[in-house]
Amino acid sequence: MAPAMTLTLDTAPRVGMVSLGCPKALVDSERILTQLRADGYALSADYAGADVVIVNTCGFLDSAKAESLDAIGEAMAENGQVIVTGCLGHEADAIRARFPAILAVTGPQQYEAVVDAVRLAAPPVKSAYLDLIPDAGLKLTPRHYSYLKISEGCDHRCAFCIIPSLRGDLASRPPAAILREAEALVRNGSKELLVIAQDTSAYGVDLRHAVSTLGGRPLRAHITDLSRELGLLGAWVRLHYIYPYPHVDQLIGLMSEGLLLPYLDIPFQHASPTVLRAMRRPANDSKVLDRIHKWRAEVPDLALRSTFVVGFPGETEADFQYLIDWLGHAQIDRAGCFKYEAVAGAAANALPGAVPEDVKESRWHRFMAAQSAISEERLAAKVGRDLDVLIDAVDEDGGASGRSKYDAPEIDGEVHLRDAGGISVGDIVRVRIEESDEADLFGVPV
Ligand code: SF4
Repeated sequence: MAPAMTLTLDTAPRVGMVSLGCPKALVDSERILTQLRADGYALSADYAGADVVIVNTCGFLDSAKAESLDAIGEAMAENGQVIVTGCLGHEADAIRARFPAILAVTGPQQYEAVVDAVRLAAPPVKSAYLDLIPDAGLKLTPRHYSYLKISEGCDHRCAFCIIPSLRGDLASRPPAAILREAEALVRNGSKELLVIAQDTSAYGVDLRHAVSTLGGRPLRAHITDLSRELGLLGAWVRLHYIYPYPHVDQLIGLMSEGLLLPYLDIPFQHASPTVLRAMRRPANDSKVLDRIHKWRAEVPDLALRSTFVVGFPGETEADFQYLIDWLGHAQIDRAGCFKYEAVAGAAANALPGAVPEDVKESRWHRFMAAQSAISEERLAAKVGRDLDVLIDAVDEDGGASGRSKYDAPEIDGEVHLRDAGGISVGDIVRVRIEESDEADLFGVPV
């Protein structure tokens, strides 16, 4: 009988943890340790056996701060490889002034930043027996495209939305963690990264756009810097849920450089200034049409996708007509439209001027007719062009379907290919566009 294989974890780096403060801090410590164990780290009960020590601090009262500083001092003296996290992390400058050799200081609930710092200080050991989860994590999308979530929560308070009360204020992931995930996704076959958040363009505001270093280069926690780094990975990078803040102009520059797809998903929701004010929408800028024209002057094939709501409380026929006229000027490529519905807990429920259901219904049909005509015309303008198409599906009859740079999966249209034998899912194929309808394009590989 073959001898049983013995798996030894002797080589796994060991992490020590000093956890101070309240039960919330304790839960934070547990989450950090759980993640580290999942990554193959071992735990150490003493300073001597630890490759790195995490001190989870409390900064609530002066006495708690003093205790935390004592604990950091002890860990520095006994081990020297120390990462500080928790509430006292808000006073990073004071901690660094007192302990200049500290490896990293992060604030409460910044689990990823702590885990990142541990990985930097003591890189994990990969094991075929332990790493049942691929580098890129477990995915629910096909291998060739992946969603990349860069932040959670939202600082806005749109009248129709309860997401901030469910998910809290904006909490951005550290840029290094996002880039590490993106690199793993690309390494594992993703050809397209779809960047998502509640408000993607606000990325890093909560981190005060702090600068960290990545491969020796400074990197701001800012959507422009992050997008540039993502663009350098060699996959298509598509941005969703962008609000037209002024710095979005810089993203258009990255599209010109070929680092981002010429695609912006901006949930405008409406165009009438009165309705937008009542909705309390962010980046509610009356000059947004001028900006769209400016963007298209710079990136002529920029595709815009959006969502709109009709029948919001107080929306008049004039507001609605303003929206329809605006669509004609903005030439949005793809748009979804919803009839307003009250959501339990939303501030909009208290607004006067409820729009009758039959009026909502009729406005929805008018919106869809206007938008379909625009979409159809914009697709027809692509006939005769050669476009790169990322293949999503192939059939047994030599046909295939995929998406050009102008279309996101599930929500936009497709490109249907004939005579596409030998093509596989995930390939990027040059396609001559022969026909179009109001939703899709049709073509043949060239
Ligand atoms: S709809 Fe408004 S409040 Fe809700 S997630 Fe989007 S930006 Fe934030």
